[in-house]
Amino acid sequence: MSVPDITLNNGITMPQLGFGVWQVADDEAEKAVGTALETGYRSIDTAKVYENEAGTGRALRASGLPREEVFVTTKLWNADQGYDETLRAFDASLDRLGLERLDLYLIHWPMPDTGRYLDTWKAFEKIYADGRVRAIGVSNFTVETLRRLFDETGVVPAVNQIELHPYLQQAELRAFHAEHGIRTEAWSPLGQGRGLLDDPALTRVARAHGRTPAQVVLRWHLQLGNLVIPKSVTPSRIAENFAVTDFALTGEDMAAIAALDKGERLGPDPATFHVA
Ligand code: NAD
Repeated sequence: MSVPDITLNNGITMPQLGFGVWQVADDEAEKAVGTALETGYRSIDTAKVYENEAGTGRALRASGLPREEVFVTTKLWNADQGYDETLRAFDASLDRLGLERLDLYLIHWPMPDTGRYLDTWKAFEKIYADGRVRAIGVSNFTVETLRRLFDETGVVPAVNQIELHPYLQQAELRAFHAEHGIRTEAWSPLGQGRGLLDDPALTRVARAHGRTPAQVVLRWHLQLGNLVIPKSVTPSRIAENFAVTDFALTGEDMAAIAALDKGERLGPDPATFHVA
């Protein structure tokens, strides 16, 4: 079975399961993205601050895939917030990727103490209106920063990419997204492969389905309707993480995973995070 498409609030579609490349050096990213594309992934998530947009672009070209078959996301780094800065940073990201048009552009972090995300978003709206990106969204936005964005700007973000895994299930934010037509995208969907994948409840569900805990977690995301972008540089795991569309978790499995929520973050708190 193939990866389902998710329709965003402007009508364009995006593969529900994609591939992330945080903490992967440029050359290694080129290799990993190449492996992911060979495996069948058709959505890639990078960011300016990952310093691997160039390697990602090389892998896209080397794959020989038609441009329209791969959905490419990158993110505006904090230091580039502001109207003019954003327009320049977007051009530079496209140059590094070697693309003429991007699929999804995200504000990486809101940094609410500066309020600059509002002017930044106005530049996103211009880039979108100019047809240089197919959808615009945000990352690490809270209910509060989303509300302020709605109040002071025009376009509702297509996506909010947030930390989300069974130990941090983000029920309130997911409900808010659903209410406003914003798609939830899960970062660190596997809990960065740390303790989560050894959780006895996950191990039990995995054994019952003849799958791995990582596959169970990714399947849980898909059944919740999340966009999901697991990362690995290991070819066998890249394949394992993609093989999650041919089985289904039961209601009981979903409930067992729902019970694992600890509200525990691996990353910083977006309400206060400020690094430029
Ligand atoms: P992840 O949850 O995808 O975990 C990746 C790690 O889990 C790997 O490095 C590996 O150690 C392990 N792993 C992967 N597959 C496995 C498997 N099948 N079995 C066992 N272990 C496995 O973590 P991530 O990289 O933090 O998040 C995924 C992507 O999300 C990133 O690459 C990036 O694209 C995005 N991201 C975005 C933000 C943001 O602020 N917007 C922050 C972090 C990550």
